[in-house]
Formats: sequence, structure tokens, C-alpha cells
Amino acid sequence: APPAASSMPKHRVTAKGRDVPAPAETFEALRERYDVSSHLVQNLRESGIVEPTGIQANGIPILMEGRDLAAISPTGTGKTIAYLLPIFAALNAPSGKDSGTGVRAVILAPTRELAGQIHNECLKLAQGRKWRIVLFSKATASTLADKNVRDKVDIVISTPLRLVSSLQAGALDLNNVRHLVLDEADRMLDAEFLPQIQEIVGACSRSDIQKAVFSATLPAGAEKTANEMLTDPIRIVVGLKDT
Ligand code: ADP
Ligand code: MG
Repeated sequence: APPAASSMPKHRVTAKGRDVPAPAETFEALRERYDVSSHLVQNLRESGIVEPTGIQANGIPILMEGRDLAAISPTGTGKTIAYLLPIFAALNAPSGKDSGTGVRAVILAPTRELAGQIHNECLKLAQGRKWRIVLFSKATASTLADKNVRDKVDIVISTPLRLVSSLQAGALDLNNVRHLVLDEADRMLDAEFLPQIQEIVGACSRSDIQKAVFSATLPAGAEKTANEMLTDPIRIVVGLKDT
């Protein structure tokens, strides 16, 4: 049945790329189509997140299908959950014998403060399971120098510089990373961060890694760099309805 007028998308969405999956306008529809545990949807509900935003309805199916994604959506539209939910769904369970060891997802943000906000969104999804999520700082970086600690980490959130320092010190390896996200990608792909981003991308050795960039805006230069980094990506742009 067509959606009721009251549940029509609130945003205008344009998508470009091969085989763009249909949006999922509810979290239940997502659960029916993909392997998303009810536990994750319940965690969102408990945080007051009951209906997907435009970027979530459109972006989550793309990421659940394993595709690379460049997503552009205004500030405050829930971009963080749009990339975190697919990561939690794909990782399925905390690091262990079934999932291999070592960091499996890396999320990069331009400032420590933004990384902290992403960490807070992560904690909403992580409720009730023993996920090891590390917000990178000088202190956490030094605890990861111990391989036994490092092997139990599931998700790392960091600024590029902090992560590169650990890589260069041999205190981190990214050989098991399956998901790499650049948040605030307009800043991450500018001249200041690009060398560090390239070093991190180069250290992620799995050929089946999924990459995504999220931003409120993506200037032509950053878009070109993103396209060189992504494999067969889908690009979606969410605009406010009356703009
Ligand atoms: P953006 O990165 O697009 O600027 P955020 O991911 O920081 O937006 O989300 C902004 C706020 O909206 C956060 O407090 C987040 O928890 C909340 N939020 C995210 N998705 C939803 C949703 N589907 N319904 C209600 N609130 C949401
Ligand atoms: Mg954001």
C-alpha cells in the first residue's frame, strides 16, 4: 500500500549511482528487509528515536547492502545514527571467536568534540551488549599499545591526527577494519586532513572494506576526492523540503 500522507518523507532526496535500494520509511521495514536485530531498534526507541529521518530512511538501506556511500544532509538530521546503525547491525556481536579480533570499524571526525558527540550516539546503540567502543585520546591510545586490549576493541572513534600517531607508533593496526566512515567529510577531505586520511585508508588492508562519507555540504573539490576514495558509490543528497 502507498504510505499515508502523514508519513510521507519530510525531505526531498536525490540519489545517484547504480542499483539504489528503496528507502525504508520505518525501522520495522528495515528489520523486515535486512538483518537488523530488534535489540538495536529497541535501543533507539529508548533514546526517543522511533521514526527514521530522510538520511536514515535512504542511507541505511544503502549501507546495509554493503555499498559505499557519499551522503549529504543538513546539520541535525541524524547522520550519525544513519552510519552507526548499519555498523552495529553488520558487526552483529562484540569481538570474539566468531567475528575475529581487532578493530572492525573506524569513524573519523575533525575535532575531539565532534568525536565525543559520535561516541555518545554510539552508546545509545550499544546498550545491553558488551561492545568495546574507544574514543581515542592520548590516554586510550596508550592502553591500546597492549595487543590483548587492542584485540577486544570493536569500534574506534578518533580525529585523524590521533589515529595516525598510534599507527606510526605501531600501537594500532587496521587490518581487520570492515567499515570506515568520514564524518564532516567537507573538512576531512580538505588539504589539512587529506594526508592523514590517505595514510589511514592505506592502512586499512581488507579489500572488502566499506567506506562512507557524511557531510552537510560537499564542495566540488571534496566530492572529487571522495569519489577517488569510494568504490562504485551511491551519492544521496537530502534537502529541506522548502529550499
Ligand atoms: P547531524 O550529524 O546530521 O548533524 P546528529 O546525528 O548529530 O545530526 O543528530 C542530531 C540529534 O538528533 C541527536 O541528538 C540524535 O540523537 C537525534 N536523532 C537522530 N536520529 C533521530 C530520529 N530518527 N528521531 C529523533 N531524533 C533523532
Ligand atoms: Mg554530524
